[in-house]
Amino acid sequence: MSCIFCKILSGESPANIIYRDEQVTAFRDIHPIARTHILIIPNRHIASVNELGVEDEGLVGHMLLVAMELAKQEGVAERGYRLMINTGAHGGQTVPHLHLHLIAGKLARFLLG
Ligand code: 5GP
Ligand code: ZN
Repeated sequence: MSCIFCKILSGESPANIIYRDEQVTAFRDIHPIARTHILIIPNRHIASVNELGVEDEGLVGHMLLVAMELAKQEGVAERGYRLMINTGAHGGQTVPHLHLHLIAGKLARFLLG
């Protein structure tokens, strides 16, 4: 499996992992576009939103709740943050392993799209 995020999950590639449970793992983006930039990913390889099924409803809800908890932990919940899932080439997805961006800080307000 050549997926970079699967390698992070297995420990083969290094990452600044800040949260992990039985369903998801969260780590800091290697190229942050704002003061807080965290990626929340499922522990199972799912290529994108397009590959989700009804059986993943709980997982997707869990990803959102973990993002909210991490936003609180980062101290950005009150001022606000952006949650983003890019899907496919035209959606700006560059890593084919589902990930939820948690972006916060002044710059997050100026992001497009
Ligand atoms: P996408 O463009 O697919 O929505 O987001 C992929 C994100 O993954 C980008 O923000 C990029 O900086 C981040 N990224 C890519 N490779 C790595 C890596 O090896 N480690 C970490 N921590 N982030 C990565
Ligand atoms: Zn993967």
